[in-house]
Amino acid sequence: MPTTYETIIGLEIHVQMNTKTKLFCTCDNDSFNKEPNTNVCEVCMGFPGTLPVTNKEAIEKGIISGLALNCTIPSTCKFDRKHYFYPDLPKGFQITQYDEPIAINGHIEITIDSKKKIIGIERLHLEDDAGKLIHANSGTLVDYNRSGTPLMEIVSKPDLRSKEEASAYARSVQQIMRFVGSSDADMEKGMMRFDLNISLRPVGSEKLGNKVEVKNLNSFRSLEKAITFEIERQTKMLEENDTIKKETRGWDAEKEISESQRSKEEAADYRYFPEPDIPPIHIDSAWSEDLKNKIPELPQAKQDRYRKVYAIDADHARIISEEFDLADFFEEMMDYTNAHFTATNLLVTDLLGMLNKEHQSITDTKIKPKQLAELANAINDNVLSTKMAKEVLPVMFETGKDPSTIIEEKGLKQVSDKHELEQICKKAIEAMPKAAEDIRNGNDKAIGALVGFVMKETKGQANPGKVNQILLSLLRH
Ligand SMILES: [Zn+2]
Repeated sequence: MPTTYETIIGLEIHVQMNTKTKLFCTCDNDSFNKEPNTNVCEVCMGFPGTLPVTNKEAIEKGIISGLALNCTIPSTCKFDRKHYFYPDLPKGFQITQYDEPIAINGHIEITIDSKKKIIGIERLHLEDDAGKLIHANSGTLVDYNRSGTPLMEIVSKPDLRSKEEASAYARSVQQIMRFVGSSDADMEKGMMRFDLNISLRPVGSEKLGNKVEVKNLNSFRSLEKAITFEIERQTKMLEENDTIKKETRGWDAEKEISESQRSKEEAADYRYFPEPDIPPIHIDSAWSEDLKNKIPELPQAKQDRYRKVYAIDADHARIISEEFDLADFFEEMMDYTNAHFTATNLLVTDLLGMLNKEHQSITDTKIKPKQLAELANAINDNVLSTKMAKEVLPVMFETGKDPSTIIEEKGLKQVSDKHELEQICKKAIEAMPKAAEDIRNGNDKAIGALVGFVMKETKGQANPGKVNQILLSLLRH
């Protein structure tokens, strides 16, 4: 029998914070579209004799992020120097938090195939980012604009067991950071990147195998591909009785393979010591309590509440709760309608579909939540058929007009008036005596032809359900 293996995954997620200034100086923290090396100063360039001053906004956003990940905030945290040499690191060391991070012992809940699972979080610490190397034809250039940008490193416990879980966890962290407002977490702008720790062990074994670190994965796709690749590579090695080395590997996103870079460094290799220029930071419970009150309702809680209060479908609840602005739109819409199911469908399937086509998001639409609610109400009150609503919505999308105005302008009102419908149904029975006779003899299928006649007479504006009812009552009495 071949051995089956279990995959053990831990993730380190680097998230770039959206503070106004850098972590230890007053340089603008937004270097997007700035000329290389124009957004720097003596402090973030590591000139001798300069002194770092800790950015309070970064500390507060670190605390809020930690609390949102259900972490404990120790009463003291401090910064340390982590030494290594690299051309993008002008100081010769990184300022990070080694043994006293700002947040410890957290967890978040993820949902996979409607099953919930708790993923532990070991720590969240703050550190400054390095510059950027640019490999050009003429040689390698360096841009220090990013140097000193505040990062949060969020380290999970080795609780993840598959690429689906890893991806769900990473997405959840991304949403939480956006909800609490500590990062835009835009992967395309490099604001979030992953280091993957992965090992295999025989199913049933308690002992962890040697772990391999895959560095700098900068998309969800790369993360999933790297996991698949490592599972295959390590399984093959174990089957051939090879020893898996503890090592750091780099991910080649083009070839979709990981390649060995170096053997894994131990903490001692970095010669950590407390940063002598930055005093430890004391965080009392009043301060963290105050920050805790600023945390909005988070996606998982929203999702659970939407399902409970509005009884909407799980997928819809998930999609809506993942984005702050979308959730806002949804909640406002719900204030104006009891047609929860119809309104949610219009929002998620139709409106989001139209926005996706235009590469727009919910904040770009001319449609107001109240107007979409009105459209849902019109369907539910049988003023419009679903088919007619599909004609109204694109006009709302284009013009931002109220559905009632468009219904009026297009003369779209569904005919539901009983007396009016009865007259047309009688006409149908006269025009199609054979079908009418069939129904009298119990052949219900023949009703389609009569309903068709009525729909044609009313230019599709009759309510088919009512037409059916009226025809049957006329013919069966
Ligand atoms: Zn600076």
